[in-house]
Amino acid sequence: MVLRASYGTLALLGYNERIVEGQQTAFFMLDGKCVFNCWFCSHARSAKTPNKFLSRVIWKEINLSEAANRAAKSPYIKRICLQVVSYPGYKKDVVKALNTFHGKPISVSVRATSFEEVKMYFENGADMVGISIDAATEELHRKIRGGSLKKVLELLEESSSKYPGKITTHLIVGLGETEKDIVTLIDWLLKRKITIALFAFTPIKGTKLENHERPSLTSYRKIQLAHFLLKEGAIEFSMIKFNENGEIVDFEINLSNFDELYIKRAFLTQGCPNCRRPFYNESPKGALFNVHSEELLKNVQLPDFSSS
Ligand code: SF4
Repeated sequence: MVLRASYGTLALLGYNERIVEGQQTAFFMLDGKCVFNCWFCSHARSAKTPNKFLSRVIWKEINLSEAANRAAKSPYIKRICLQVVSYPGYKKDVVKALNTFHGKPISVSVRATSFEEVKMYFENGADMVGISIDAATEELHRKIRGGSLKKVLELLEESSSKYPGKITTHLIVGLGETEKDIVTLIDWLLKRKITIALFAFTPIKGTKLENHERPSLTSYRKIQLAHFLLKEGAIEFSMIKFNENGEIVDFEINLSNFDELYIKRAFLTQGCPNCRRPFYNESPKGALFNVHSEELLKNVQLPDFSSS
């Protein structure tokens, strides 16, 4: 088994003192040669990116027992997340890791292929299981990720009906879908009590999409806002107005009636409890697509709908 910890996680485990404000989840990667070929991923079969990268983050190899003991003792760590690369034989390594980490809730983010697999992780102690969608339309899913979106949605639906509130998914904004495509899917997932973690597409050198553009920050903010308002029950999907290009132009509610800081919570990193993923899809020098601490929300602007 090759286990890696993200750079930020090493600080939470006590290897250095550079703790990033807001990080409360320790991220580990079960690493190997992936059998899939997602165009955006640094671990894809065709990617030329070194394995120490996942997205734009560097991961260092670490011993499982040592990681588990340090994580159990760390006062900073509220959750453990196992990010699983689909290498041959990964399932037994996930089970071993689930049985070695202790004392903290564990999320598993994995390209599960059956309900039996999902069930096995819960039976071995997972608190939440993440089944990624990544690409939000059937066409993009088949092209960029391989396989059928319909099948992933069926697995998500079955898993969430058996484990309500315990299933997560990852969605990447900016792979070529419209705002309407992704918000339609968000609404479908929320109705099934599936937790959504939004990511802004980030081009990684060495991958097939290394020259693909990022989504605009304004578009990402609108999608975050739609997700938040739907999740909070502040709006119905039918209240979201789209133009002919599938861009959000209005929510049919007056955002200024809400407390500004409450509305800005839409821009905090979403996902499993305590998951803030600092700088996962942004550079420390640029704008934060996912804001990892409440303190930083003060500097964030609400999106301007007049530009759509
Ligand atoms: S939302 Fe966060 S903790 Fe949950 S599976 Fe995704 S990365 Fe892991």
